[in-house]
Amino acid sequence: MGKLDGKVAFITGAARGQGRAAALAMAAEGADIACFDVCKNLDYPYYDLSSKEDLETTVAEIEALGRKALALSGDVRNLAEIKAAVDETISTLGNIDILVNNAGIAGLGAAHELKEEEWDAMLDINLKGVWLCCKAVIPHMIGRQSGIIISYSSVAGVKGLPFAIHYTCAKWGVIGLTKTLAQELAPYKIRVNSISPGTCDTGMVVGLAEEMGMEHEEAAKELTSGHLICQLIPPEATAAAALWLASDDSRYVTGHNLLVDGGWSST
Ligand code: NAD
Repeated sequence: MGKLDGKVAFITGAARGQGRAAALAMAAEGADIACFDVCKNLDYPYYDLSSKEDLETTVAEIEALGRKALALSGDVRNLAEIKAAVDETISTLGNIDILVNNAGIAGLGAAHELKEEEWDAMLDINLKGVWLCCKAVIPHMIGRQSGIIISYSSVAGVKGLPFAIHYTCAKWGVIGLTKTLAQELAPYKIRVNSISPGTCDTGMVVGLAEEMGMEHEEAAKELTSGHLICQLIPPEATAAAALWLASDDSRYVTGHNLLVDGGWSST
């Protein structure tokens, strides 16, 4: 018996990286998965985001585990696209038990040199996008008097991270959103938690390495210099945290920010 038998998870940014890893971890425990991703490059960030082929690969890997999967294209900044995807998930898979707000971007720049468009894109995707997805799914969860919401913050959500002020502010915001929603939604038996990874081995780090003008290995070394016990964190490690938060094993946990950061936040 799986820990998530009969459950449906709606996961943003599921085409690759930590979103795909969370999707596969949850599918392996019996959940069907709605995979939502923008699947194209945007004006910002300056590195490549995922493709439709990436999303199809996630879907195929879920199906290979014997679970149902939906490929849903859309932008977390667009409420109409989110609502259409939520409706399609409910009509096809029956419910949404678990919302995973994982989609996100990263970028670098001195605080006084960032362009307004860069600030706006960062806050719109990494913070407002989380709220919009919650806004679309919460009425369904309230109706069912049950639900789990998990949002990806970052170690940058608990520390000051120089040269990424927009990212840092968005990720602090995700933790504030989590702690606020945990209180608002507890009466409806909806648990709300966040995960804060350290530097994780995904396309985001590949993209940041390009921006830093470094080889991947050199950039990874630089970006993990704060970790105490490891270098790049595998996406499967944050997926294990997401699975725990999605399962009954964490039934007494809400409003919590779970750090999977190699100890970086303790420095
Ligand atoms: P990633 O770039 O590999 O994956 C992010 C996914 O989000 C991509 O598939 C991308 O297409 C999608 N996405 C981006 N903008 C979107 C939008 N507007 N609408 C819908 N989908 C969109 O990176 P990842 O490491 O897997 O990132 C997952 C989450 O973890 C993000 O919220 C990120 O900020 C957070 N995080 C990452 C790291 C790290 O080191 N990789 C560290 C801390 C926190």
